[in-house]
Amino acid sequence: MLDGFTPWPEDVAERYRVEGYWRGESLVDLLDAAVRANGPKTALVLGDRRITYDELGMLTRRTAAGLRARGIGAGDRVVVQLPNGPDFVVVCFALFRLGAAPVFALPAHRVQEIRHLCELSGAVGYVFPETHRGFDHLALARRVRDEVDSLEHLFVLGRDTDQSDGDVVPLAEVDAEPVELPAPDPSDVAFFLLSGGTTALPKLIPRTHDDYTYQVRAAREACPVTGDDVYLAVLPVEFNFTWGCPGVVGVLGAGGTVVMAPDPTPELCFPLIEQEGVTFTSVVPSVLQLWLEGREWMESDLSSLRFLQVGSAKLYPETAARVEPAFGCRLQQVFGMAEGLLTFTRRDDPAATVLTTQGSPVSPADEIRIVDERDREVPAGTVGELLARGPYTLRGYYQAPEHNARAFTDDGFYRSGDLARLTPEGDLVIEGRIKDVIIRGGDKVSAAEVEGHLLTLDSVARAAVVPYPDEFLGERTCAFVVPAGEAPTLPGIKAALEEHGLAAYKLPDRLELLTELPLTGLGKTDKKVLAALARGESAPAAADFVPSPAIRAGAAANGD
Ligand code: AMP
Repeated sequence: MLDGFTPWPEDVAERYRVEGYWRGESLVDLLDAAVRANGPKTALVLGDRRITYDELGMLTRRTAAGLRARGIGAGDRVVVQLPNGPDFVVVCFALFRLGAAPVFALPAHRVQEIRHLCELSGAVGYVFPETHRGFDHLALARRVRDEVDSLEHLFVLGRDTDQSDGDVVPLAEVDAEPVELPAPDPSDVAFFLLSGGTTALPKLIPRTHDDYTYQVRAAREACPVTGDDVYLAVLPVEFNFTWGCPGVVGVLGAGGTVVMAPDPTPELCFPLIEQEGVTFTSVVPSVLQLWLEGREWMESDLSSLRFLQVGSAKLYPETAARVEPAFGCRLQQVFGMAEGLLTFTRRDDPAATVLTTQGSPVSPADEIRIVDERDREVPAGTVGELLARGPYTLRGYYQAPEHNARAFTDDGFYRSGDLARLTPEGDLVIEGRIKDVIIRGGDKVSAAEVEGHLLTLDSVARAAVVPYPDEFLGERTCAFVVPAGEAPTLPGIKAALEEHGLAAYKLPDRLELLTELPLTGLGKTDKKVLAALARGESAPAAADFVPSPAIRAGAAANGD
């Protein structure tokens, strides 16, 4: 078992096995069974590239053998950062075959995140595209390899074999005659997802074969898919939502077809839905907004859609109500977290439930508690913090004992940081959050991370980052800064943070200058006051806090 991984307590694990949640099935077993059952059927589509189940099975075997020949083995960690496409699926399943664990980096990640993920996971390998959306990943990869001791192997997608310069191996060359490999241990870590980030840097979420194959089975019960389904992977495949809710893995397990969308625009996705007969997909509310607008001016025939899953950020009932009329298909609301717990609305739920709640847990073994700040359960229907425990909810972040002591209760419940209530019918409604995270579209931005970077700038004496509402993205990021010397500007700050190598979605959207930050009675930055200011409301009085004339006049330092 991987060092630094917190397993479920033995008696709990035994119960999950006895009760049939964990069946000792690995992700490799899931794929191999699908290959046996669906050989010549199309498994994956990207543009003109169509891959059958037979081909997928063989590609993953050959890639596993190729990786092994290059020195990747059981227990190794490999950071995988690939755009939506079959290669992501092939590389991940090849690593599963080897008993090596991919770490799912997002395509938007830059040197800050990739270096951190490589260091934290002790990765020996990094798989990346040569360039993506104009960004030079190859240069980033070489830099990170120079800086991170464990990192030895660089594998690049899209580099011609004859340009190979020895230190970077083109993925196309990672290919060898299949070899017999020992089956991975189902109770061991299969791969790592990333936390939505309450701490300065993302934490690693270990997902075992047992827990993930179960999650996918449970998600498929709550969201039935069959071999006739065609799933459009719109959001990055590295998101838990796209990968396994039931997503790519669930659809492959059912013998359906996964169509990969390189970007979420309606211009690209609507024709794909029409051409490929897509039956369902999963999007975040901001993408749904784009699609609702696209529906008004684009002619595409989307009648193949059976339902649309929307989740990962707050979906307002008014927007939810537009789905069925606009797309002629059902809406399924999804609340989920890479840490585990998933709740879905169901097909036979009344319309009001589908429009106004995030549904109920996908597993009968999911345990939910809604508690007050002293961990006492609140009266039914009252808002409190959502805690979760269950057969696919982690018991600890990887290599993070100190954080784990705070993030979990003594009896193993994960503290989600979300504020929620349960309806009398047992459906969950997400009402807000206490964690210091901005949910910008589907992307989660850790306030602490951005603040840390702001504080390294010479022009910044103090900084605090809060969300403010945005019609399109749901929330955007506002940075309140007390300048040191010459006042910074938004373009200047963005350029500096980009220079630090921070992913673009984390850059502040707005800058407000203050003469000082408001403090709580305990002397901490009062983010409630700042959030009210950012919303344009008059701030609740904070002791000794005087907004600068700029803020009072409503002027921002957004010199763009
Ligand atoms: P991630 O692990 O990146 O998927 O982020 C999980 C977090 O996203 C949750 O803890 C919530 O804060 C938020 N989230 C996910 N689904 C929803 C939803 N349907 N409504 C509101 N917030 C959501």
